[in-house]
Amino acid sequence: MGIIEKMRLDGKAAFVTGGARGIGKSAAQAFAQAGADVAIVDMDIDEARKTAAEISGETGRNIVAVETDVTSKEQVDLMVKTVVDKFGKLDIAMCNAGICINAPADEMTYEQWFKVINVNLTGVFLTAQAAGKVMLKQGYGSIINTASMSAHIVNVPQPQCAYNASKAGVIQLTKSMAIEWAKKGVRVNSISPGYIGTDLTLNSPNLKPLIQEWNRMAPMGRLGKPEELQAICVYLASDASSFTTGSDFVIDGAFTCW
Ligand code: NAD
Repeated sequence: MGIIEKMRLDGKAAFVTGGARGIGKSAAQAFAQAGADVAIVDMDIDEARKTAAEISGETGRNIVAVETDVTSKEQVDLMVKTVVDKFGKLDIAMCNAGICINAPADEMTYEQWFKVINVNLTGVFLTAQAAGKVMLKQGYGSIINTASMSAHIVNVPQPQCAYNASKAGVIQLTKSMAIEWAKKGVRVNSISPGYIGTDLTLNSPNLKPLIQEWNRMAPMGRLGKPEELQAICVYLASDASSFTTGSDFVIDGAFTCW
């Protein structure tokens, strides 16, 4: 089989958390374009349904929306069961839902800290664990966790210690699961995007005014686009990456190079 065929996802079943919009939506579109059926998992079920209808219309794949808050173990376990019931198996799990709250470390409240860690790190753990249990039984599967360049550098000028710590945690969690499951057919990798133009960045009243400043620091002078992460997601989801596990992929237009 040639490399391009190996990158196809025909007949595979996937879910993407935080799949209703932004990076998750773009990855779900890419999985469907490559041939997979995809569950759009999100706490915003109205947006998830719109996204599922849009991707289904574009690709003709079986795309479903599942309402889930990734911080709830019960909801995550039920979501994975729902996906497996619908598709009959689970090949690809993208644990992508995440939030950012900016506050100086000395002023950050316990509630702010807990919320960010709970969604970004505990949510990824619960989702990857539930997906992993199914994949270990199957003897195959690919898990892709969304970390961030904030796992590698401290963003400035905005103070975001909880976000940075949560994303560094996602990378070590990824590597830990990858080692434990390496001989059992389940691969676990992470992506670390730089600044990407999504609702999280473009429509956040706190972050929007900073875009000019980020672009000034960015070697390419611009934000990335969600679709510029699609190829790495399809690669990691596909059999073309069969020797790739425990790796983190920084896609940031060289932002972290200096
Ligand atoms: P976004 O805000 O545009 O989309 C996030 C989606 O996650 C939304 O649909 C939201 O409803 C959903 N969500 C939030 N909390 C949830 C929860 N508890 N349970 C289920 N769904 C939940 O964000 P985005 O920019 O697309 O970011 C996606 C991921 O990429 C996040 O983990 C983010 O930290 C990471 N990331 C983003 C950037 C960036 O610059 N945009 C850079 C690096 C990493």
